[in-house]
Amino acid sequence: MNTLERYNTFVMGNYAVAPMTLVRGLGAKVWDDVGKEYLDFTSGIAVNALGHAHPRWVKAIAEQAETLGHTSNLFRNPNQGLLAEKIVSKAGKGKVFFCNSGTEANEALLKLSRLHGKQKCGKEGEKYRVIVTGNAFHGRTFGGMSLTPQEKIQKGFRPMLEGVDVAEMNNLGSFERLITDKTAAVMIEIIQGEGGLTVASKDFLQGLRALCDKHDIMLLCDEIQTGIARTGSFFAFQQAGIQVDAFSMAKGLGGGFPIGAIWVSERFAEYFTPGSHGSTFGGNPLATGAALAVMTVIDEEKLVTHAEAMGKYFYEQLEALRKASGGKIVSIRGCGLLIGIEIHRETPDFIKAFRENGLLTVPAGMNVIRLLPPLNVKREEIDTAIGIIRESLIRI
Ligand code: PLP
Repeated sequence: MNTLERYNTFVMGNYAVAPMTLVRGLGAKVWDDVGKEYLDFTSGIAVNALGHAHPRWVKAIAEQAETLGHTSNLFRNPNQGLLAEKIVSKAGKGKVFFCNSGTEANEALLKLSRLHGKQKCGKEGEKYRVIVTGNAFHGRTFGGMSLTPQEKIQKGFRPMLEGVDVAEMNNLGSFERLITDKTAAVMIEIIQGEGGLTVASKDFLQGLRALCDKHDIMLLCDEIQTGIARTGSFFAFQQAGIQVDAFSMAKGLGGGFPIGAIWVSERFAEYFTPGSHGSTFGGNPLATGAALAVMTVIDEEKLVTHAEAMGKYFYEQLEALRKASGGKIVSIRGCGLLIGIEIHRETPDFIKAFRENGLLTVPAGMNVIRLLPPLNVKREEIDTAIGIIRESLIRI
């Protein structure tokens, strides 16, 4: 059996996989099993923050695996405290809970909002509703799916969790109208990573903060795709000059080693008491060691500023392409190195053409193609990508 036959025979078919097998990566490049080279502007969907096989990340994992790989949370491990301290230094005063993925981090936020509701009205089951935005994406577990009001995600799996209300992105009035005594939290993405890259405006986010304060509702943020220096600040909500009450992160945090986490502000950080929540793997020495290496390299290589500068450059080049595209490119969206190209029609042909020309990209909604280079991408690599995008557009 070859790789394709084995995959099709033994791996469940829930992904639309591209027709090649990747076997090696270095920096922003990957190679398939027949030696073809690609510029990887998927970064494993915003995960490989430092690109592939960054020596510091590789060393941290190898050394930790040789020393102590896993302990469970029955015991402390030094990396967990160090990583939590680092996250707090970026996010603000508060505490961190570790898990293994984005959807799990959102489950933790959801559980926290239930505890807030209970705290506010003295009993459970009364104040538990969460307001989310249409087109949001918060994951595939039942909590995550329930917070994701998209037909394609929920179809076949209903009933969802009760208690999710849907407002409109950048429409403060739509949130205000949904708030009742039963509302415990609002959950927001600053840029809708899977939902076509719509960006929440600064005014809207500031208004939402004030609204949550007025009603004493938790303002929760999903930074799973936007966090860890991806959008020109360490966390995307920081660009709006607001503080959220708690947020989730995953993806770029481990740079390719699975890890998720939530940061919770001081006021709400004591809601989780011993036994109230947990995870066997969450924050194990290997995962937190890998994430510590990612955070350290981001600081040492000044990747927040670099990603912002490269994002600006990329955006300008894409804008120039848009103007010359004869209407094929409708708009360029996003922020930092989370960029979307809105195409005049559905994207599969374009994604295929980019791939055949050696550039890997990700769809984001029906008409948007996402570009997610590693945070340390070089200007020449962006130039190469622009060349491929231009050439592919001409061909189609
Ligand atoms: N939230 C957002 C904004 C995401 O982009 C994703 C994944 O794409 C998730 C949640 C779910 O994360 P995971 O796939 O790690 O469970």
